[in-house]
Amino acid sequence: MSEVVAEGRFKSSETTGAKGGGTRTFLGAWFLACLAILVSLLLGALWMPLLYIGLIVAALIMLGGFVALVKGVKDFYRSGACPHCSTPVKVIAQPERAKTCPGCKHRLILRGNRLHDVSTAA
Ligand SMILES: [Zn+2]
Repeated sequence: MSEVVAEGRFKSSETTGAKGGGTRTFLGAWFLACLAILVSLLLGALWMPLLYIGLIVAALIMLGGFVALVKGVKDFYRSGACPHCSTPVKVIAQPERAKTCPGCKHRLILRGNRLHDVSTAA
């Protein structure tokens, strides 16, 4: 169970890492890989071996994207209970985000792996 404590001015609750975000990471990886291919095509015009190195790098990035898609990314989300109403909330961990609680519409901010209810001062 996640305990709710007043930390500073705001009530906050603990979160735990949750897997996910595979598709998002996959798309990001493919975008990076396409950039790597473009750059290596340009550099390959100057010096051929750079083209192959670039393609190998792009292939590795794509492979990483596939792994993320299939297995998910560890600790992509932080999940916990809203410190105000205990509704389960999931927030993207990196970068730390703010989210509106679906239960009580309070503004929640993820900071230091804890959910802070910034709508009410404790
Ligand atoms: Zn809530």
